[in-house]
Amino acid sequence: TETRPVILLPGNINPHVRARVEAEFDSVSISAADPALVSEADAARVQGIAAMTGISAAFIDRFPNLGIIANFGVGYDAVDAKHAATRGIVVTNTPDVLSDEVADTTLGLILNTLRELPRAEAYLRAGRWTAEGPYPLTRLTLRGRTAGIYGLGRIGMAIAERLAAFGLPIHYHTRNRRTDVDWPWHDTLSGLAGAVDLLVVVVPGGAATENAVSTEVLKALGPDGVLISVGRGSTVDEPALIAALSSGTIAAAGMDVFAREPHVPQALLDMPNVCLLPHVASASVATRKAMADLVVDNLSAWFAGKPALTSVPETVQHNSAADR
Ligand code: NDP
Repeated sequence: TETRPVILLPGNINPHVRARVEAEFDSVSISAADPALVSEADAARVQGIAAMTGISAAFIDRFPNLGIIANFGVGYDAVDAKHAATRGIVVTNTPDVLSDEVADTTLGLILNTLRELPRAEAYLRAGRWTAEGPYPLTRLTLRGRTAGIYGLGRIGMAIAERLAAFGLPIHYHTRNRRTDVDWPWHDTLSGLAGAVDLLVVVVPGGAATENAVSTEVLKALGPDGVLISVGRGSTVDEPALIAALSSGTIAAAGMDVFAREPHVPQALLDMPNVCLLPHVASASVATRKAMADLVVDNLSAWFAGKPALTSVPETVQHNSAADR
């Protein structure tokens, strides 16, 4: 029989990825991306990895014949792509197919944070509308706000377009000014925070953005300011945010991502002025299926000798199996 490439599935993986990989390739499953869990025979056989978990340099180095790591998700801060590049290994992610879903969810999170819709529904369900009368007027509103987008990339643009349609002026901070939009660009995050009162964080995680949302940035956002965090938890200094929310340095926060998921600090759970989601921004069946298809389509293209479809910038020079 024809030999098929061997794909490793480490740890928890989307069921549609598993089904397609098992149908289209030979596969090996292990419970976590831990080099100690890989047998000598499998270490030699594995040519590709499909993962929604962290992939370290030590794990990559367990596989002498590895050519491609297909990451489930657009954010790949947990994959050591720089190390993969030194080995000539391509890393792929799942851009674009989730941007509208994540932006839709972000708009929901913004409205839930400002207008307290989850709390208002809990009030109705608890019988308090009948017993106590109308839910109290919300202190905060989207009306009259100016939005700041920290990370005006694929998802940031989709969020900005929605907020613009809601009538809000848009400002942004990125390292490089965009030439295709007229919205005011700020060369620092503090500068952006000082100019807006709704700050949406949607930059990638990793060292360059770690704890970037600091005490100083939150002070600049100000007492009517609202922070929305949908990129990576590592970007927000959580103790600084908790202090800012409890002292009134900022007004409220809505969060989909946290520094130590699934751990959410008790101080946040106890606060009335936060809206908390369990990292669900892309989590619909349809969008996760589109992401899963892109993971496996990257593997299929690459093993067919064609360029990977969506290589990350660090590894784009290793895009095709034919280059090896
Ligand atoms: P893009 O790469 O398209 O956009 C990233 C943006 O961030 C760019 O505008 C980039 O501009 C900017 N940026 C990157 N690094 C910095 C920096 N150090 N300082 C300032 N700006 C920076 O990515 P996507 O929009 O597709 O995704 C963004 C992130 O959203 C993902 O990496 C992921 O972590 C997160 N995400 C979260 C989800 C969730 O479930 N909550 C779902 C999907 C994604 P420039 O390079 O000019 O600085």
